[in-house]
Amino acid sequence: AKELGRSVYHVYSHKLHEELNARIELVKRLREAVENEHLSVYYQPKIDMASRRIVGLEALVRWIDEDGSIIGPDEFIPVAEDTGLIIPISNFVLKTACTQLKRWHDMGMSDLQLSVNLSGKQLQSPDLMDYILSVIDETGIPSHLLELELTEQVFIENIKSHTNFMHALREEGVTLAIDDFGVGYSSLSYLKHFPVNVLKIDRSFVQDLPDDKDDATITQTIINLANSLDLELVAEGVETEEQVSFLTERGCIIGQGFLFSRPIPSSEMTELLTRYEGL
Ligand code: C2E
Ligand code: CA
Ligand code: CA
Ligand code: CA
Repeated sequence: AKELGRSVYHVYSHKLHEELNARIELVKRLREAVENEHLSVYYQPKIDMASRRIVGLEALVRWIDEDGSIIGPDEFIPVAEDTGLIIPISNFVLKTACTQLKRWHDMGMSDLQLSVNLSGKQLQSPDLMDYILSVIDETGIPSHLLELELTEQVFIENIKSHTNFMHALREEGVTLAIDDFGVGYSSLSYLKHFPVNVLKIDRSFVQDLPDDKDDATITQTIINLANSLDLELVAEGVETEEQVSFLTERGCIIGQGFLFSRPIPSSEMTELLTRYEGL
């Protein structure tokens, strides 16, 4: 048994070693990508599912590798948070997206709203508020068109330290959305502490609608909650017309998902915005 234990340990430690090296390599490449601005912002439309009009856009970061391949945020945001690289990355996303929104705004899309994701790590930066305000100021976008998406987890973890920050943002007219709503938390009391405007129903509840009875119940409950607290609702991950029917019949009008459009680069979004008659 001792022998076996030792060899298992060796395999394990070898694997750990490899994983560690891969991670060090990833951090190094990510740092270079940030320095060389090998990042890009993609946009996914939010749709009024009744009229099929685009009402807003969510900015989603992409890493464009040397060979042109695209690396998704799930592969580098966690590492970026651990290493502090999340700050320059997020600053880049916010600035790029607001600058782009201003262009679309000037093209006549004056109601188009923009959502940007914020991570918990960013909230710990004392400069965040000033940075957000300076970007609004420099780009000249109306602050009420900017929405910040924070996950439920971030709201809960920061319940004490960041209420002031969020109220200050609201004072400025910036909108706050709770991302991935409904995942993993049973207490809703935090909703009372924050000046939240929007709930985004997590994709995991939407994907098996309308057949999955539990998901149908949960979705209905979130819709009721939003209605009674006077919050806006966005359904994430809408992929089928059946989901659209289910959601709109129950009063959830705004949807985002591959049925309407995948996240696309700004040039393609410009085409979509100037050409489309509704999706
Ligand atoms: P999220 O904020 O929940 O963003 C929605 C994700 O769902 C996006 O993945 C989007 O491409 C995907 N999605 C949208 N519609 C559908 C659909 O119909 N079906 C399916 N299967 N997926 C759909 P993406 O772009 O890979 O982003 C993943 C996550 O990375 C985001 O989840 C967000 O948490 C994070 N992220 C992305 N950009 C940023 C950023 O600039 N800053 C920070 N802090 N996090 C970001
Ligand atoms: Ca989001
Ligand atoms: Ca989400
Ligand atoms: Ca998500």
